[in-house]
Amino acid sequence: KTLLDIRGLRATVNGIEILKGIDLTVRSGEIHAIMGTNGSGKSTLAKVLAGHNAYEVTDGSVTFEGNNLFDLEPEERARAGLFLAFQYPIEIPGVANSHFLRLAYNTVQAQRGKEELDPLEFEDFVREKMKLLEMNPDFLDRGVNEGFSGGEKKRNEILQMALLEPRLAILDETDSGLDIDALRIVTNGVNRLTNKDNAIILVTHYQRLLNYIVPDYVHVMESGRIIKTGGKELALELETRGYDWVSVEQRAAA
Ligand code: ADP
Ligand code: MG
Ligand code: MG
Repeated sequence: KTLLDIRGLRATVNGIEILKGIDLTVRSGEIHAIMGTNGSGKSTLAKVLAGHNAYEVTDGSVTFEGNNLFDLEPEERARAGLFLAFQYPIEIPGVANSHFLRLAYNTVQAQRGKEELDPLEFEDFVREKMKLLEMNPDFLDRGVNEGFSGGEKKRNEILQMALLEPRLAILDETDSGLDIDALRIVTNGVNRLTNKDNAIILVTHYQRLLNYIVPDYVHVMESGRIIKTGGKELALELETRGYDWVSVEQRAAA
């Protein structure tokens, strides 16, 4: 079943075209890795899908489960089952993480016409999820992202994902925060949370991440385009050979 379908997507920021025609189809049960050197447009793609207001879509289409993604407000995308890790990167000092997580959870539950949980019920529910992810419950009492380390933000992201049970999660593994701790958290979380009904797009330029999360497809971005798509073996090839040969090959074919 097709979850996400991107056709000829072009987008600009400050009038500069960054995405120059992206085509990508993601079906349920699939893990896609989007790789590419710094500045190739990986995060821009993720942000455009999130509905970040700095980016203007100038051409192409994106459907999520058959509906025009851009008809949905960014908040509505979560209800529809799309999870974008950096949708909630805000620091809210003084607001307990448990409160924030419950709010996010209940909002999505309500929008899905499902039962909301009171603080005690939520506490049980979230602790169960945290056990699954091997997270320390102390984490619930901290302020939202307040002074969180890269690894802790990552943990929170994965916990949010576990709570919201999205159909499609887009995780952008930015350069920072991907220490050994974060690597383990993302890896365990993704492997535990993926099943035949959902899908993950993992944006990363770290090949080693893909030693632990085995993707079905690996896409290489360059200058706002996907210039090559392959299977998991492509990630290994990128690790040994770098990225240059991909653009050489692509130019030769053009
Ligand atoms: P990646 O995630 O692959 O490293 P990005 O999507 O962050 O790449 O950036 C792609 C290109 O878009 C880069 O050349 C970057 O400088 C440019 N870019 C991204 N955001 C902005 C912005 N807000 N204003 C101007 N240029 C931007
Ligand atoms: Mg970058
Ligand atoms: Mg990036």
